[in-house]
Amino acid sequence: MKLGKYSFGTGDRFAHQGEAQLRASIMAREAGVELTHVWNKSHREHKTVKSEPSEVRKEADEAVMALGWQGQYLVDADHINMDTVDGFVPYSDFFTLDVADYIGKDPGAEATENFVKKYSKFIGDLHIPGIDEPFKIDERFLRDIAGNFLTAANEAGKIYRRIAELKSNEDFVAEVSMDEVEEPQTPAELFFILAAIADAGIPAQTIAPKFTGRFNKGVDYVGDIDQFSREFEQDILVIRHAVSEFGLPANLKLSVHSGSDKFSIYKPIRELLKKYDAGVHLKTAGTTWLEELTGLAEAGGDGLILAKAIYAKSLDRFDELTAPYATVIDVHKESLPPASEVNTWSAEKFANTLRHEQGHPDFDPQFRQLLHCAYKMAAEYGDTYFSALDNYKDIIGKNVTYNIFERHIKPLFIG
Ligand SMILES: [Zn+2]
Repeated sequence: MKLGKYSFGTGDRFAHQGEAQLRASIMAREAGVELTHVWNKSHREHKTVKSEPSEVRKEADEAVMALGWQGQYLVDADHINMDTVDGFVPYSDFFTLDVADYIGKDPGAEATENFVKKYSKFIGDLHIPGIDEPFKIDERFLRDIAGNFLTAANEAGKIYRRIAELKSNEDFVAEVSMDEVEEPQTPAELFFILAAIADAGIPAQTIAPKFTGRFNKGVDYVGDIDQFSREFEQDILVIRHAVSEFGLPANLKLSVHSGSDKFSIYKPIRELLKKYDAGVHLKTAGTTWLEELTGLAEAGGDGLILAKAIYAKSLDRFDELTAPYATVIDVHKESLPPASEVNTWSAEKFANTLRHEQGHPDFDPQFRQLLHCAYKMAAEYGDTYFSALDNYKDIIGKNVTYNIFERHIKPLFIG
């Protein structure tokens, strides 16, 4: 199964917005951009909202059927590992093999020596076509790569073979992700990580490194945009070279686990993709749920009351909700508006505070980040929440489609 050149991943916590999300890919197609639409959901999300991998498959198939989508679409078992993969296998055709926990685990002396020996031919100046300055590679560097990444690559190989065994075929897309770590991986490291991935027998079509800068959930990129652009450009060139050096799939491309809404790096990404005719997978987080809340607020009446109640509950349970996201959010309890104040807000005020329009005077990234983590509160409302989604389907759907197309797809792929 070959993943298309441009692919876009959407998350949908409650599996109600499949059609509204897919509509954005239809609009892309109408604008001349062919996207593979991917629905991604991790084990962590499934556990939090008590859903099952089969529900994502059902949602995707039903949305595709209802809208007559002719393009490619896939269901991504996001951030899975050996412990969680099995349950996803019957329903997914895209697997994000998360081996971040294995980074830095010693592969043992023999494996390290074999790796260093095999790649000692790169010691000295490593010239990557398109990159002016050669990378300086010495034995120490290769040894560090082995020590840091070999165990992770081998673990990804085990997960890959487990999927192939359960499926009885290799007809699926494999991504290797190393993004959920503290330290970014440099382009030179990426080159040898790809060597290790090839050695581990994984025909990876996407690789998700950790990039420079902060990728907080649901808010914009924080970091040096020029540095990000340089790194992204070098990564593209490194991948291209690694494909020919190590025999990886020709369509191997970068996967950006954006955490959604990294608006300020979309333009450099678009320009670099164009410059090198390169593909990309851009994964967004479950911010569709924030569009549900925005739509509920905008609807007014009991929709707004429910949105406010969810906010009040999430403020009460701030610690519990933000703890799992501690490394990818930047939110302080004391900077948040008290529930008593929010309860006096109009529909517009609530929607404008939450909606990611950076230029709007009401927009509050603190408010938005807390609510991003608060989907568990909506899940606890159960049927009350789901019937509100049904009652206000139109206004919510409008927000969901607009968000994905106008704020993400357009700046990334169209300009
Ligand atoms: Zn990720």
